[in-house]
Amino acid sequence: MKTIQEIVDAVNRQQLDPLDRVEEAIAKLTRIEPLNAVRFLLADSARQTAITLRDRIQKGETFPLAGVIVAVKDNIVTKGDENTAASKILQGYHSPFDATAVERLRAAGAIILAKTNMDEFAMGSSGENSGYGLTRHPTHWNYVPGGSSSGSAVVVATGAVDISLGSETGGSVRQPASFCGIVGVKPSYGRISRYGLIAFASSLDQIGVFGKCVQDVELVLSVLGGMDEKDATSINKPFIRMHDVSFSPDKNKIAALDIPNKDAVQKEVRLAFENVLQKLQNNGITVETVSIPSFDLSVAMYYILATAEASANLARYDGGRYGTRIEKEGLRETYRATRGYGFGKEVKRRILMGTFVLSAGYYDAYYRKAMKARRKMSNEFFDVMKNFSVLLLPTSPTTAFQIGEKINDPISMYLSDIFTIPANAIGAPSVSIPIGKDENHLPIGMQVMAKPFEEAIMFRVAHWLETIL
Ligand code: GLN
Repeated sequence: MKTIQEIVDAVNRQQLDPLDRVEEAIAKLTRIEPLNAVRFLLADSARQTAITLRDRIQKGETFPLAGVIVAVKDNIVTKGDENTAASKILQGYHSPFDATAVERLRAAGAIILAKTNMDEFAMGSSGENSGYGLTRHPTHWNYVPGGSSSGSAVVVATGAVDISLGSETGGSVRQPASFCGIVGVKPSYGRISRYGLIAFASSLDQIGVFGKCVQDVELVLSVLGGMDEKDATSINKPFIRMHDVSFSPDKNKIAALDIPNKDAVQKEVRLAFENVLQKLQNNGITVETVSIPSFDLSVAMYYILATAEASANLARYDGGRYGTRIEKEGLRETYRATRGYGFGKEVKRRILMGTFVLSAGYYDAYYRKAMKARRKMSNEFFDVMKNFSVLLLPTSPTTAFQIGEKINDPISMYLSDIFTIPANAIGAPSVSIPIGKDENHLPIGMQVMAKPFEEAIMFRVAHWLETIL
């Protein structure tokens, strides 16, 4: 397997032709069409980009992501293309601008080839909530690939593209990465500009990256990270590359989360996780088990805060501004018809829930309490992590489940994110790496989580783990 850095070097040295790479990727994407991972194939613009890139390289320029083939989740806008967040309500909406993350990829010489399928407005954990049909697991076709960044995980896991962008509100990059056996990272809140990311829950949303190995996602993050005046929450902190920090087990202590409710975690996931801890001990590294009790509140807290923010963010889709409009007698009826048709079942459920928890009579009982839980989670995390560099924890309590298995049981679907939500709530970075397989050969993932803006040590440890595993 070539790393992206090796591909980039070969393209910059004119040993690899970017146009050949585009054609190869198009052929691969065509072969995996039955998985329904792609919403829009941008073949013509990708070919054009490759030709321009080749010319510029021939004239002596070099690029940090030269010729890297990228797929982008359909909720991250690309200029001139249809952008739907897999919702019928945005059908026919063409963005007049590029998201900042997309702009940075293009400037770095990357080639954007596809927009990927996803759970509508990034709400879901299985890829089954798309308004345009579900996405299938790359190797087990009757299973889900995870979500909400379902398509972005599948196109990388099948090797059709080099890397992909997804988005995270509560685990939507790490959970599908774990289900599909690849690497997925959610950076610190504020690391990557959210400009051009279609908002779900703004205080939790962050763009993330899928790749085949830690080195690949780290390289891409080094290009995407940084201050952007178009996003008031982006933060001006230099991105430190993982090889510029040192990792010594004496200085950089590793903590492992004590899994509170062991029965709720699939046995093979637990064993794989314990096996990693054992391997670390065998390598002479002590891992201390820590408990962060409030992590148990994550799902309850998340489904109050995320739905509250979503109900406000999604109010803009009224048929008057973007995409679909179903014209009826009067404004009220037009809204009703447009939203009734345009939003899927899960999105409607979230809007209703969010409106409820924000309503005058219930605000204190739900929203304010959830905010307190978020604060508590953050305080406990920082308190425990004073003495540690990274925290290890499983990515998802189960491996991939079957299509249809959880779709009528939202609570059990929501529980998929119990281990990923804390990083979003705290604003901390976390990366999921593959650590094994279950009896059905379905992949198992584990997270390496660090304190906000300490991606360098997080990647360093994750990369090291990748090599010893
Ligand atoms: N699965 C979670 C949800 O349904 C998280 C989604 C996400 O991270 N975008 O909300």
